[in-house]
Amino acid sequence: MSIAMVITCYCYLIGTIVMNGLLTVTVNPMKFDQLINQAPCPENRDDTWARLCCELAISAHEQGNYAVGALLTNADDELLCTAANSVFSCGYHSDRHAEMVLLNQLEDNLPMQNRLELTLYVSLEPCLMCYGRILLSGIQRVRYLAKDPDGGFADHLHLLPPAWRNLASRVTVEPMEANDYWKTLAARLISELQDRDEMRQQVKNAWAGK
Ligand SMILES: [Zn+2]
Repeated sequence: MSIAMVITCYCYLIGTIVMNGLLTVTVNPMKFDQLINQAPCPENRDDTWARLCCELAISAHEQGNYAVGALLTNADDELLCTAANSVFSCGYHSDRHAEMVLLNQLEDNLPMQNRLELTLYVSLEPCLMCYGRILLSGIQRVRYLAKDPDGGFADHLHLLPPAWRNLASRVTVEPMEANDYWKTLAARLISELQDRDEMRQQVKNAWAGK
């Protein structure tokens, strides 16, 4: 489903719950495009990028992939490119995390962009693989929505070898300054609404050549 359709559909609500006493989120695992029922705060630019990351994550899920979306902005806070996880699109591609797909776009299509001025926004805290790729890409500013307690690497920089730790010293990886609504939604897309056992089984099947 296209982003335009996602935006169009979000107002069709099926059922709601109140989260944290403040947030209203639709509850229907089969209707991910209806989960978004809050507009970004116009005064908060991170809210705009947070919403787009969530829409991309939902799109990834609807295509059978992990629910993670990412985007790049330039120094003027303008959108450069977007990407979504596509690990299970057309077979199994272990490298196609949203950040990796995004950085491929940058390096293939926008080679003249000054990486030092770019910001990478992503719906989920980067994993070890993506963190390493970000360090090599030259991007120095990363903002994520949901913490990933199982696979996130932002809190484990002390484990890097010296050369990588030196690269990491130039990079900030921090939570977005977005409304908690988006952080909660991004976390729920991964932790609650996606069938994690089924995803794991798909990976095991790919490893076994099935
Ligand atoms: Zn990753």
